[in-house]
This record gives sequence, structure tokens and C-alpha cells, in this order.
Amino acid sequence: MDRGYHQIINALITVLRQLEVEREEIESVLNSMAEGIIAVDCSGTIVRINTAAREFIGIPKEKEPSEKNYQQVVKEASLLAILERVLKEKETCEEEISPERSGDVVLRVYAKPLYNNQQLHIGALLVLNDISRIVRLENVRRDFVANVSHELKTPITSIKGFVETLLDGAMHCPSDLKKFLEIISRQSDRVTAIFDDLLTLSRIEQDRGKISLQRGKLKDVIRSACLACEHKAEDKEIKLEIDCEKQLFAMINAPLLEQAIVNLVDNAIKYSGNGSLVLIKAYSQRNEKVIAVCDNGPGIDSVHHERLFERFYRVDKARSRIGGGTGLGLAIVKHIAQAHGGYPGVESTPGKGSSFYLHLPQ
Ligand code: ADP
Repeated sequence: MDRGYHQIINALITVLRQLEVEREEIESVLNSMAEGIIAVDCSGTIVRINTAAREFIGIPKEKEPSEKNYQQVVKEASLLAILERVLKEKETCEEEISPERSGDVVLRVYAKPLYNNQQLHIGALLVLNDISRIVRLENVRRDFVANVSHELKTPITSIKGFVETLLDGAMHCPSDLKKFLEIISRQSDRVTAIFDDLLTLSRIEQDRGKISLQRGKLKDVIRSACLACEHKAEDKEIKLEIDCEKQLFAMINAPLLEQAIVNLVDNAIKYSGNGSLVLIKAYSQRNEKVIAVCDNGPGIDSVHHERLFERFYRVDKARSRIGGGTGLGLAIVKHIAQAHGGYPGVESTPGKGSSFYLHLPQ
């Protein structure tokens, strides 16, 4: 009898140990998931909540929300409403929510009623996915399409308008014909410039990681960039000065780097007054090589600095367009810097000119 008792107790202990091991296994699987999981029984008690869910809805680790009613634990109104609906109406639902206290986090919530093997309703299961990155990318894409359409609309509308005016009879007046054709030509140049810049951007983005870098002399690249900008500089009697040691090398893709420097020098010329000086410097600094393009132009207020390298961001829209700017020059500079494993920079004060930097790793 005694032996039988012992055997039963030992068997029970073994089963309990096995159950404990299984419970720990389930717990560690749940806690290593990127998705948040919350399971609630019909009385509203939280029976399972994993680490991701705690993080998403802001429950500190030390607090143990299991065994508590969800209304005590979940403070997020939209999540409470979903839980209530699934528990009461036994409805499956899928919603996107932005938790109030989590900044710009967006969660996709899948909620399902839970049934046991006998098909009895036993609670609700919520699966939370962090889709903030996808939403952000969608917004960037939407803004980009809107910006491109907006940028192209003005010149295309203008071309269409002048062509119609010419067809309506203005083409018979030689002075109007010349004037309008010149406007049409300027506006077509604008469309071409926007397309060229967009294609450059997309090419750099596509080739990211595949761009070949070779050890090259920075002074040679700076010289060819200045040569490409010479005409524009001469038109405004602006002097381009280079300050770079002959033997300064870096790992570069010369044509791309030249394009980035051309964009910076082109801006310096475009935004500076006649007869001023643009200085292009290159030097070693800690563990990087730096190329700086410095001008004595109008300068840029610091509120704009963070956004300057975004596509189509302009400080003075009218001035940029008059100068033939597409609003993409600095975005191209940023992508080229990144393709080199580096980054761009700016220092500028209104009234004191601007210095734009390209930082390249050694
Ligand atoms: P854009 O084609 O309009 O010049 P960019 O991307 O090259 O576009 O530059 C973005 C904006 O940054 C410009 O519209 C201008 O307002 C400002 N900017 C760029 N470079 C300079 C500079 N050297 N001096 C003053 N403002 C500048």
C-alpha cells in the first residue's frame, strides 16, 4: 500500500515537472516572438501576455499582469474597445491603432474569440504587429509621388498653355512666337532637369552596396567638378578656389563623387552674390576624409538644417526655381555620401554663408 502511494506521488511529481518544463517552453517561445500576444479568458482575466505585447502597450517588466483583469492592465482605449467587442460579441476583427503614449508607433491588431475543443467560448486572443516602419515608408512614398506630380505640374501646365496660345493665333506674330517658344524651351529644360535628377537618385538607390570604390586622389575629382561649374561661376564673376593637398587619397567612386561636389558648388554659385568666393577644401579629420564647399551666400537658418537633404525640401522655393533648382540636388549629395559609407553635413548662419560637407570614411 505504502509503495503504491509512493509510486503515485512520484508519477505525479514527474507529470508536474513535465508540465512546468512545457510551460517554460511555451513562455520562452511566446517571449521571443516579435508579435505581441495577449490571451484573455471570458471573465476578462489575462491568462497570457508576452514581452512584445508588454512593450507595445507600455507595461513595465517588473509588473506581473497575468491573472489580472485586462481593464486594470490595458490603458489604451482603442485596445480596450477591441477586447470588449471580441469578448462580448465574439467577433473577429483587424484594426490599425496608434497607442497614445507610444509616439508614432502604429500597431496592426488581429483579434479573435477563443474556443476550446468542445467549441465552447473561452476568451479572446490578440496578436499585435508593429507596422510603424511600413506606415512610415508608405507615407514617404505618398509624399514623394505628390511632390513629383506637383513639381512637374507647373512646367507642363505652362508648356500646354503657351502651345495653345500659339495655336490660337499668336504664332503669326513673330515677336510672340519667339517669346513663347523661349518660355516653352525653358519649361522643357525644367522637366528634363527634374527627370534627370530623379533618374540619378533612383540609380544610386538601386546600386547601393554594389558601387565600386577605388583609391583615388581627391584633388583630381575636385578639379573636374570645378571645371564643370566654371561657366556658371564666370557668369556671376565668382571665384572657385581649391585648398587640397595633392596626395590626399580616399576610397571613392570618382564620377559619383564628382557629381556630389558639382551639386554643392552649383548651389554655392546659385545662392551667392556676384563677385563672391567659393572655397572647396578637402582634409583628413580623425578617421575620415572631409570635403567642404564654403560660400559667402545668404546662409540658412538652423531650423532648416535637419531637412535640407530631403527630396524637394527648399528654404526659398521661388529663388530655387528661378535658379533652375529641382530641389533634389542635396538629396543626391546625401545618397552619394551614403554610397561611399559616409554622410553629408551643413554649417550655416543667416548672413554668414554656408559650408556643406561630405564625410568619407578612411
Ligand atoms: P535646389 O535645386 O532647390 O537648389 P537642393 O536640394 O540643392 O535644391 O537644395 C535644397 C535647398 O537648400 C535649396 O532650395 C536652398 O533653399 C538651400 N540651399 C542649398 N544650398 C545652399 C547654399 N549654398 N546657400 C543657401 N541655401 C542653400
